[in-house]
Amino acid sequence: MKEHSEFPGLFIVDHPLVQNKLSQMRDKSCPHYEFKSLLREISVLMGYAVTEKLALTTKTIETPIQSMEAPVLAEAEPVVVPILRAGLGMAEALQYVMPRSAYGHVGLYRDEETHQPVEYLIRLPEVKNRHFIITDPMLATGNSARHAADVLVRHGVPEEKIILMTLVAVPEGVKTMREKYKILPIYTASLDSHLNEKAYIVPGLGDAGDRIFGTN
Ligand code: URA
Repeated sequence: MKEHSEFPGLFIVDHPLVQNKLSQMRDKSCPHYEFKSLLREISVLMGYAVTEKLALTTKTIETPIQSMEAPVLAEAEPVVVPILRAGLGMAEALQYVMPRSAYGHVGLYRDEETHQPVEYLIRLPEVKNRHFIITDPMLATGNSARHAADVLVRHGVPEEKIILMTLVAVPEGVKTMREKYKILPIYTASLDSHLNEKAYIVPGLGDAGDRIFGTN
């Protein structure tokens, strides 16, 4: 994993398995069931990177041989917050490696003319002392991800407890996030070139929601 030289706090997960699976997903002939399964596999692998900075403490446990001070997470497992609907594909995979994590949901759709997010559903668990991981495969304009972070902050989650997990990002989206959120870490498998006139990522992989769910 590399921190991007131009964008501090942007981490590119350049693991060969992640990169290979992403290339398969980008191919337009990849069918939706395979796309969904690759997204799940990548998300499990990226889960390792995304949770790397979670704090540990120790707890006394008894192994069958003797007692020991064993490392355990200092906080409850993070809350996973998919931005509906494409974020669901990543969130399910994170719950596979963090089964005790709670789910939040942020339902946003993109107004096709203004490209601004419109809220239609917000459900979040208690804040307590834990991290919140927003999942959204595409960091395009950045408006939805920034809106989701705004929702969490409004709910009482401090910026330092929020992590953004994406699959493909573009500089435009990273800049939108950084205008408001200076320290929130962003994880992605690729920083692509730019947005086209319809606000799709180039080269990207098309509409992630449609490709996951087989709609168009
Ligand atoms: N959302 C997508 O699903 N794909 C893009 O390229 C941009 C936004």
